[in-house]
Amino acid sequence: MHIHGEIVKPPMVKNTELLEVSYGCSYGKCRYCMFYKNTEYGISKLEDIEEDLKEIKEKNPDVERLFLLGGEPFSLPVKRLNKILDLINAYLPGVDIVMYGRVNSMKNKTVDDLAELKNKGIVNLVIGLESGDDEVLERINKGYDSRQAEEYLSKLNKAGINYSLIYIAGLAGHGEKNWSRNALNTAKLINKIHPTGLCLTMLYLNEGIPLYDEDLKNGDFTEAKMLEILKEFKLLLENINIPIHIFNEEAATLMSIKADFPEEKNYAIKFFDDKINSFTQEDEDFYELYRRPV
Ligand code: SF4
Repeated sequence: MHIHGEIVKPPMVKNTELLEVSYGCSYGKCRYCMFYKNTEYGISKLEDIEEDLKEIKEKNPDVERLFLLGGEPFSLPVKRLNKILDLINAYLPGVDIVMYGRVNSMKNKTVDDLAELKNKGIVNLVIGLESGDDEVLERINKGYDSRQAEEYLSKLNKAGINYSLIYIAGLAGHGEKNWSRNALNTAKLINKIHPTGLCLTMLYLNEGIPLYDEDLKNGDFTEAKMLEILKEFKLLLENINIPIHIFNEEAATLMSIKADFPEEKNYAIKFFDDKINSFTQEDEDFYELYRRPV
C-alpha cells in the first residue's frame, strides 16, 4: 500500500479499509492544528491508487467501507474525485466511501457536482467545522465564517450527502462568556444545516501549534478548564433541536457517549450533568496532565 506520512482517521466501523488518495493538508493554516507537521501536501497518483485497490480486493474482497486518506481529500477538484471514485467502483463496486473534508471543500462544487459524487458511493463525509462562532473561526483561521459554513454545508443537504461535523470544545478559551457564546452559536448553526452526526472533541495544545506558541504564550488566549469544557458540551447539546447522532472522540476526551437526538437528548444532557456534578479538583489536575503531558 502507498502511504505517505501520518494517518489521521476518525473511529472506524467494522470491515473498513484505508485508501490513500492524498496526503497532508492543502490548507495547513488552522492555528490549533497539530497534524501533518512533517507531511508535505500531495495528491496520490492514479496508478498508485489502482495498485492499492487491487491489493485491497485481493486481501479483503468483501470490504464494506473504504476510508479515503488525506487531511481533506474532499477538497480535491471534482474531476479528480470522479476519476478516483470510478476506479474504486471498477474494483470494489458498491463499497461505501467515507472521507474527511473541510467546509471550504464545497465552495467550488455545484449541487449537481456533489450529487454526481454521491451517486458514485459516498455515504458520509467527516467535516471539521470546529465551531459556528465567528469570533472563534477568525481566531483559529479556519478560512470561513458561519455564514459561509451555512452556505457551503447546505449544498451537501441539497445533494443528499450525509455528513458528520466535528466540534472542538475549548476553542473559545477560558470564561463562561466565551464558551457559552461558542456553544450557543454553534448549536444555532447546526439547527439550520441539519448534519447527520456531530463528533465531540476538545482542544489540545502543545509546542509547535500557533495557538500555543503565540496566542497562549503572549497571553492573548487562556485555556478553558476541563470543568468548563464539560459545561460547554452540555450547553451545546441542550440547544440542539434537530434529529442528529451525537458521538465523541473517546481517546481525546476520555469518555464515551453516543446518543440519537431527539430520543436520547435527555440521556446525553444527564451524562454531562453527572460528570459536572461529580467533578473534583483531582479530576481537573488529571485532565491538565493528560491534555499536555510533561
Ligand atoms: S484543515 Fe484540518 S488538517 Fe488542515 S490545517 Fe486545518 S485542522 Fe489541520
